[in-house]
Formats: sequence, structure tokens, C-alpha cells
Amino acid sequence: MSEQLKPCPFCSSTITFIGDDKTEMRYYVYCAYCSASTGRRRTESDAIDSWNTRHDGWIPVTERLPELTRFYLVTYKDGKHPNAVMELRFNPSYGWASPDGEKLNVVAWQPMLEPYKESK
Ligand SMILES: [Zn+2]
Repeated sequence: MSEQLKPCPFCSSTITFIGDDKTEMRYYVYCAYCSASTGRRRTESDAIDSWNTRHDGWIPVTERLPELTRFYLVTYKDGKHPNAVMELRFNPSYGWASPDGEKLNVVAWQPMLEPYKESK
């Protein structure tokens, strides 16, 4: 049954189950190892979709590109770096611009973190 479920996005466990809440007729997927869970969904397949589409924040460039000119965190690949991460500026007219004008093979991106704010 759980072959169609991806591993847990938090702990990578494959000990995942589909639960159902019979009183409310709601379905959810949960991880037996770390207790991560989707919200309650109307159907079992909605719960599975919800579990399988949870991601780690990376957006593949094949899915979409950023819309604003600013810095993003990117994963890129080249001969020396099979899977490297760096900050890179994106401009919708020019694409990804590395500091030295080199073309980088960006495969995925995500927004930068918000800076730390000291509490008053
Ligand atoms: Zn887990």
C-alpha cells in the first residue's frame, strides 16, 4: 500500500502509513518514525498527493523561474561541482548572473532566508 508514498521529507523514513479518521471521514499520511503528518484530507488520494508533493523548499528551474530581480539561493551543477549551493542574482531579462559573468547551470532555486531580527 505504501509503495506509492515517498519517504518522509523530514527524516527520510519509508515507514509511512495512510491513516483514516472514520468519525470525520478524513484521510492523512503519517510517518511512524518521526510522527510527521499531512493535514486531514477528504480522500485517500488527496492525502497521498499532499504527502508526495511536500518538498524541501527547492523549486526546479524546469518547473518555474523567479519573477523578481534579486538574490536567491541556488543549486547548480558543473564539471567540478555536481551539486553545489550558492547565492545568485536573478534578473528576468538576463537570467542567472554569476559575479564573474560565467554561465552557471542552475537546476533549482529558493528564496533567501529572512535576516535574523533581534527581539527587543
Ligand atoms: Zn519522518
